[in-house]
Amino acid sequence: MRTETAVRAATVHAWMTESAGAVRAQRDYLTQLDAAIGDGDHGTNMDRGFAAVEKALAGQNGDLPPGRLLIVAGKTLVSTVGGASGPLWGSALRAAGRSLGDAEAFEGEQLAAALDAAIAAVVDLGAATPGDKTMIDALIPAVDALRRSLESDLPLAVAVAAASEAAEEGARATVPLLARKGRASYLGERSIGHQDPGATSAALILRALERVVAAEAS
Ligand code: ADP
Ligand code: MG
Repeated sequence: MRTETAVRAATVHAWMTESAGAVRAQRDYLTQLDAAIGDGDHGTNMDRGFAAVEKALAGQNGDLPPGRLLIVAGKTLVSTVGGASGPLWGSALRAAGRSLGDAEAFEGEQLAAALDAAIAAVVDLGAATPGDKTMIDALIPAVDALRRSLESDLPLAVAVAAASEAAEEGARATVPLLARKGRASYLGERSIGHQDPGATSAALILRALERVVAAEAS
């Protein structure tokens, strides 16, 4: 294992802290997106949830492996967020954490497998398919880009940057889509022309991972 590129507990902790900061900074924007096609609570939901995650992880004494930290984060989201995004992100992070097991460190391949597990958990719970205008429209392109980059032997930081770019593109590409899942689906055709809030926050969370991995690689 090339230890210099490995992801460790500190990386995951920093990722969750960085995600909390990003969601807090973009809370009003996420809420505006949800006000257009939902009930206007996505920013507050994600902010409340990730602020609680930050607090829960701050209370850890530092001996939990990365997978366990993600499980704690996921459980925290489920218990603190009432909207659809709480159980969806909560299950996603728990599944990612379980896929990592008790390893002290992991690399790109395991990260891709963890993202796959996260997507599978979201699909299992919410039955979304690609193009339904949900968070998976950001997450699936991200894991695809991550894998392509790793297959080309690119360093982890570059691969994660490609993943977060793909997530952002995926979120932007939800604009012309008709929502088929969640509250936005109640709007039918009127959901067209708006960016999905959950895909947008998913892209923020991957950008947060990009910054954390880049900072560790430099
Ligand atoms: P709520 O819809 O309960 O108010 P939020 O506003 O926090 O919850 O989250 C809305 C986001 O959740 C949507 O933008 C979408 O990305 C995501 N979402 C909703 N339903 C599903 C589903 N069945 N599968 C995947 N993602 C979904
Ligand atoms: Mg909402």
